[in-house]
Amino acid sequence: MKTALVCGAGGFIGGHLVKRLKSEGYWVRGADLKEHQFSKTVADDFIIGDLVNEEICKKALSLESGDKFDEVYQLAADMGGAGYIFTGENDFNVMHNSASVNLNFTNLNGRYKKIFYSSSACIYPEEIQLDTDNKGLKEGDAYPANPDSEYGWEKLFSERLYAALNRNVGSEVRIARFHNIFGPEGTWTGGKEKAPAAMCRKVAECSDGGEIEIWGDGEQTRSFLYIDECLEGIRRLMDSDFMEPVNIGSEEIISINALAEMAAEIAGKSISLKHIEGPLGVRGRTSENSLILEKLDWAPSYPLKEGMKKTYKWIAEQVEKNKGQG
Ligand code: NAD
Repeated sequence: MKTALVCGAGGFIGGHLVKRLKSEGYWVRGADLKEHQFSKTVADDFIIGDLVNEEICKKALSLESGDKFDEVYQLAADMGGAGYIFTGENDFNVMHNSASVNLNFTNLNGRYKKIFYSSSACIYPEEIQLDTDNKGLKEGDAYPANPDSEYGWEKLFSERLYAALNRNVGSEVRIARFHNIFGPEGTWTGGKEKAPAAMCRKVAECSDGGEIEIWGDGEQTRSFLYIDECLEGIRRLMDSDFMEPVNIGSEEIISINALAEMAAEIAGKSISLKHIEGPLGVRGRTSENSLILEKLDWAPSYPLKEGMKKTYKWIAEQVEKNKGQG
């Protein structure tokens, strides 16, 4: 039986990844600061602890059999949506905590056979994302580097750390740049939620004919990838022999206004948009998928609207549950 350690298993993508690996027959250990917020883990073992502490990482990597883990998925990061990353108030934590976890796992390279690292579209330079009609970010666009947030700089540093581990030590690494992953069982309120979840929540909370708030003019564009496609990309990349950073994202670009309208249409509500000041991030961003298609013979294709339908359904249920508690 193959073994996998999922770091960040109490989070959104990690929680889904545990389920996916279990469905593939793996023995899985999860590790996180906290248990999963929305569902009971299906991991065979789960360690609660701070991976900034190297001793906790060693514990997470120790198997009773004395064997090395076949696969480690390093998804733990101090992160959030624009309301967390772009205000500047969390910069030190974001850089220090996430980099420490990655330094620990690269240092402990003798204790696993292969490691996956989740980087982000946030590593791409700000100046090539100033237009709403972004043509798609190619992997080679990362340099000369100029990410627009400390979160992006830490991701870039850690990508390079894993790449150097491969070059100098020969460790097997896989590096993906995720572009805005969304779906059920993700953060949907509290400031760390991403745009699809925020739009679904605002629409679910709003009555028919009401108004929701949008940060900025709402013309900023993004692409969003449904969670199942992200998991498919992770697993295909892990099984490939490609060691360089590759985008895992959608090429379906949409403005935030149109995303809000999509959520309203799914809900069957007529809703108007009120534009207010708020943290924005770059003006336009989407994935360019030639590299993943070339290397994995696969690229995401699931329509945004289908993913939004599933996400809206789940968030509307959470909103109802919360009302019940309030
Ligand atoms: P998430 O915040 O839901 O999950 C991250 C998990 O890491 C959390 O449960 C958190 O408690 C845990 N964690 C953080 N610091 C830790 C520490 N010191 N010790 C132990 N656990 C710790 O985020 P997510 O959306 O599931 O993202 C997973 C990974 O993918 C992250 O590395 C993130 O940067 C990357 N990523 C995500 C997106 C996206 O759109 N969701 C986009 C780009 C990159």
